[in-house]
Amino acid sequence: MEHATATTGFDLCGASVVSPARTTRTRLCIRGAHVAAFPGTRAPRIDLHGHQVFPGLVNAHDHLHVNAVPPLPQRGPFGNSYQWMEAFKAHFAEPAVAAALALPVEVRLRHGALKNLLAGTTCVAHHDPWHGAFAAPGFPVAVLRDFGWSYAPGWNEYGPDPRRSFLATPPDRPWIIHLAEGTDEVARGELSALDALGCLAANSVLVHGVGLGPGDVARVIERDAAVVWCPASNHALLGATLDPRRLHEAGRLALGTDSRLTGSRDLLDEMRGVILRDELAAGQLLELVTTAPARILRMPGRGSLDAGAQADLVVVRDTGGAAGHALPGLRRSELRAVVRNGLPCIADPDLAAWFQLAGVDTVAVTLDGAPKLLAASLADPAVIALEPGLEAIVEDASTLRTVAG
Ligand SMILES: [Zn+2]
Repeated sequence: MEHATATTGFDLCGASVVSPARTTRTRLCIRGAHVAAFPGTRAPRIDLHGHQVFPGLVNAHDHLHVNAVPPLPQRGPFGNSYQWMEAFKAHFAEPAVAAALALPVEVRLRHGALKNLLAGTTCVAHHDPWHGAFAAPGFPVAVLRDFGWSYAPGWNEYGPDPRRSFLATPPDRPWIIHLAEGTDEVARGELSALDALGCLAANSVLVHGVGLGPGDVARVIERDAAVVWCPASNHALLGATLDPRRLHEAGRLALGTDSRLTGSRDLLDEMRGVILRDELAAGQLLELVTTAPARILRMPGRGSLDAGAQADLVVVRDTGGAAGHALPGLRRSELRAVVRNGLPCIADPDLAAWFQLAGVDTVAVTLDGAPKLLAASLADPAVIALEPGLEAIVEDASTLRTVAG
């Protein structure tokens, strides 16, 4: 069979296209890996009446390679993250931790990336060094490249020195550091110390910020710096998180999961937690996972479905609720389809024709009990084995059932 190719593209018809600013009922035209301004004359049409289409989500903070490492058993809130890191040192000797860390790093990175993709996240800021696996064909998500980073001001055992790294980072590229991850005096003093080092500027991206006081928040906004908020991790580790409202109103806040060592299962669960704790409304959250991280992390073409944007998208049922509110309340098994670079990656089985038109072979899986089709290129058994809730449907003891292609 001769397949359509990614360059052929699709016209997605009948759906509402949702962005933080507006919802429009328009034909969404995909050409290759990008959104096009005009429909093609011969592009296949995918009927998405009764659906909403969102931009692929951006997770502004993760450590992709440690998502299958057993977390530290909770021992009460820590005053700051350095106490947690000290406590974790003994945890490395646990056999399950050692076994998880002994797996090939490429497998661990792909697992962290697949965790994100299954929840509609197509682009991730990985707060660790770049790895060649990110550029390999079939890596499940796009990973932020060309940024400067340091681990944390009070932890010199890993990562570049803050000041040297900041000075080496071009001002038009983001410079990212864990900061004020705590509620104690150490955490509360970190923003002033960072500023005294000369490292607080418009490209500074501060992860966590739990210890930021009102004056610190004002200083972050005044400098046009930004904060990546990881509330589930903060509540688990510290028993508290920052008040996100002023930073959100100023457009200087993005949402991240952190890794599962401390954080939520995925970005959808992170958003649902925010809604349940009444920290921000569902309608405010979409911006924090689309346009805000694209702006803060300097990734034009992400977090949007405007013409020229990356054709990464999430399709959900239109339940008739307020626009923009549907996605932040959903679980990953409820997503109808996740598309990356113009090609379907995971979708409900009734959308099989989309995979076939795109020439994407699939395997049948269940995701939290719901049947799904997963692009075969993403169905590495070693990676699937690491993801709770994701199971390949096997025809016999040794082979995966190929359902299309
Ligand atoms: Zn982190």
